[in-house]
Amino acid sequence: MHIQNNNPLVFVDNCFDRLALRRVDEKWITAQLSDPATRFVPVAGEDNLLTANGTPLLLDTSAVAQWRAQSQCTVLLGEYRGCVCFALGLNQDVTLPAGAARSNLRPQFGVLEDDALALLGYARAMTHWHAHNRFCGKCGAPTRSQRAGHELHCTACGNIVYPRVNPAVIMLVTHGERCLLGRQPEWAANRFSTLAGFVEPGENLENALRREILEETNVRVGRVRYLRSQPWPYPASLMLSFRAEAESAGIRCNDGELVEARWFSRQEIATGLQAGSLSLSLPGSSSHALIREWFEEVPGFVLASAADAR
Ligand SMILES: [Zn+2]
Repeated sequence: MHIQNNNPLVFVDNCFDRLALRRVDEKWITAQLSDPATRFVPVAGEDNLLTANGTPLLLDTSAVAQWRAQSQCTVLLGEYRGCVCFALGLNQDVTLPAGAARSNLRPQFGVLEDDALALLGYARAMTHWHAHNRFCGKCGAPTRSQRAGHELHCTACGNIVYPRVNPAVIMLVTHGERCLLGRQPEWAANRFSTLAGFVEPGENLENALRREILEETNVRVGRVRYLRSQPWPYPASLMLSFRAEAESAGIRCNDGELVEARWFSRQEIATGLQAGSLSLSLPGSSSHALIREWFEEVPGFVLASAADAR
């Protein structure tokens, strides 16, 4: 899938080959783990690591040797910029090499290259999954990594755990010429975003979306239209973007997830952004892309993009 340059979403893995068929080739994996050309992407607990220059910290086999005792998992990621790469899951409190820094990836949107963000996000998602599945959920025995880190097998009952992705719907709800944005309690007072929520078992995407909007704002939604998806490694979501048309406009925040929800016209968004009384989600996020494409459907309205921020 090609994401248009004028509407980029971060974390989309257009830029590397996952080498999925190699995961079962244990001889090849062993050879790659000692090959001087191989690179390791360390993740310290919840944090990605960057060099002093702000680029992704990539280690070779000799640099990794000293981390072995603190390493919790090694996962084949694929080929990135001509190098075979593995994620290396480390303890949260590991001592970093000189100059290296911990980083959440959000402040790196529009700073790091798209392929670097996709690689680091993928590494974080896989090491997070390993760290949270060290024991079998069925019998409680330790699990063992298989298929180059892409399966965890229970050492006692044979249960196999696969990397989990949690589907979440994220939607721009419109009513006439206005769109519905909400604010979560922990956000800054001027920050608003599209509504979003996790899909529950036994529910399709369309109904998850309608339920979430009704729960959060009491607005009833009719027609919905799927647009695109985005991997989101905080910690393991797949964001599924929709446009939705409201059939009612009265707002009441029902479930406590939002402290405020409002209908915004394009002019209110333009004025709020200019005055600094409104801020939106980061360029590169599904929320930003949803708002931007609706906003720009009317000539004369243009929102900054991730590409502009570079
Ligand atoms: Zn088990």
